Amino acid sequence: MKRIGIIGGMSFESTVHYYEQINRQVNEQAGGLTSADIVLRSVNFGEYCELMESGAWNEIARKLSTEALDLVLLNKCDYVAIATNTMHKVADKVEGPHAVSDNIWPPTVNYVDVPLIHIGDCVAEECVAKGFNRVAIIGTKTTMVENFMKERLRRNNLDVVDTFEDGEINEINRIIFEELCHGKTEWKSHEKILNILMEVEIRDKKSGGRGFDAAILGCTELGMLYGDFPGIKNHFAILDSTKVHIDRIADLCLS
Ligand code: GLU
Repeated sequence: MKRIGIIGGMSFESTVHYYEQINRQVNEQAGGLTSADIVLRSVNFGEYCELMESGAWNEIARKLSTEALDLVLLNKCDYVAIATNTMHKVADKVEGPHAVSDNIWPPTVNYVDVPLIHIGDCVAEECVAKGFNRVAIIGTKTTMVENFMKERLRRNNLDVVDTFEDGEINEINRIIFEELCHGKTEWKSHEKILNILMEVEIRDKKSGGRGFDAAILGCTELGMLYGDFPGIKNHFAILDSTKVHIDRIADLCLS
């Protein structure tokens, strides 16, 4: 069995699903009393939120890299997963290579790569496997406005519909940070997000597009609102990044 390091706590509401579901899937596949070999590093999300708000992404990259290197070098993890989409903004920096010196004089410097299970790659490969070519992605403002996730999808030849309006992005961001990260799941927020997706689809069709095959829940808390909700018939499927990430991690545990 492989050992997986998970950097979680962002928020803890979604990390519990990682811990529970990975263990469940590993147990279902391997049977008996088998459970997943996991090292869970649950960080203080409040600190990371303050850094995000002040735009201190270099500091976030430094902190996450330190956590990831500890998981690889001290805890001997075979793979590392970051249990949030937004923090993948600094995934390239976390992956390394990192120069690591030993404590012996004269020091030797080794270069260490972090074997990161990138949530964007898992999502992109699942879209391709399911035959989705045109997708929309929702998540935090950072994930929706910046290119780090969209780019990862485009790299896999997916066409990304990127016509969300500021008000729509702000409302989805608010639902994530003010409701879901506090464990609140409101039916009206479920409906609001679906209405936003329908609006984006209508606008896309009006401007000559054909809508999208799937709406990606590109935030690890959004699955709390949708459960097993399949999508809207004849419009688009719903693809939950958390579920896809968890499935891949569980498979790698047993690889
Ligand atoms: N868990 C969320 C995500 O998947 C948002 C929290 C964060 O900013 O990391 O993006």
